Amino acid sequence: MNPKLDFTESQLERYARHIILGEVGGRGQAKLLRSKVLVIGAGGLGAPLLLYLAAAGVGTLGVADDDAVSLSNLQRQIIHKSADIGRRKTKSAAAAIDDVNPEVEVIGHDLRIVPENVMELIAPYDVIADGSDNFATRFLINDACYLAKKTLVSAAILRFDGQLSTFKAHLGGDHPCYRCIFREPPPPGLIPSCAEGGVLGAVAGVMGSLQAVEVIKELVGAGESLSGTLVIYDALASRFRNVRLKRDPGCPLCGERATITDLSIHAKPEDGRDERCETG
Ligand code: ZN
Repeated sequence: MNPKLDFTESQLERYARHIILGEVGGRGQAKLLRSKVLVIGAGGLGAPLLLYLAAAGVGTLGVADDDAVSLSNLQRQIIHKSADIGRRKTKSAAAAIDDVNPEVEVIGHDLRIVPENVMELIAPYDVIADGSDNFATRFLINDACYLAKKTLVSAAILRFDGQLSTFKAHLGGDHPCYRCIFREPPPPGLIPSCAEGGVLGAVAGVMGSLQAVEVIKELVGAGESLSGTLVIYDALASRFRNVRLKRDPGCPLCGERATITDLSIHAKPEDGRDERCETG
């Protein structure tokens, strides 16, 4: 494919460093321009993730967040500026994305993700990137993505630690889902929130950037998928570890005798609101 047939002059220049990469090339860049990615949480992880996906030319970016920017966010949520305090995060993020790359279409979803809206929310998107801030949402997104056959790139941070993996158990084979690893949400209070435990802002930058890399790899099909591997980052030790993840045949979601076949397990009143980590 001759990329010159498909790109404007300004696109050829903007994406020149991608197009020259064999693993991306004109074909991969064209695919990015046609792609739709939903980022859940415009917080610590979502901030670098959205900025890199916008810069990369992902054609449509959905931003799901029901919060407003607060002063304590700015230590790590670098998509928001001091002047944005009080503004809806979807609006603030959309403005920053437009500054980076006005060609990107941004769809703001200023809502709380619940079982009743999640399937409709994720339906139009090719890849879902979860940077949410509580276990209830994390499990809901995992289950919804499996049922909707969507690839999920998921990251989490706390203090000086980060985790990252890709889940596409709907493809079968060896691909695990989040529930194969973490069967159910931990009891409230067992794991501190970022508000309680703290988080080094730049760790969010590291993990959100890694998440952007994995989303782009999934979209263009470059390299090895992170499905089946958990990346663990220990910032204090300056160490990355890759842990092999196995599909659990007894998984209640993707296992042979699955008991979770819809989202009704999430319907109970959710008590995770208070353990919310505003980092995202
Ligand atoms: Zn599973």
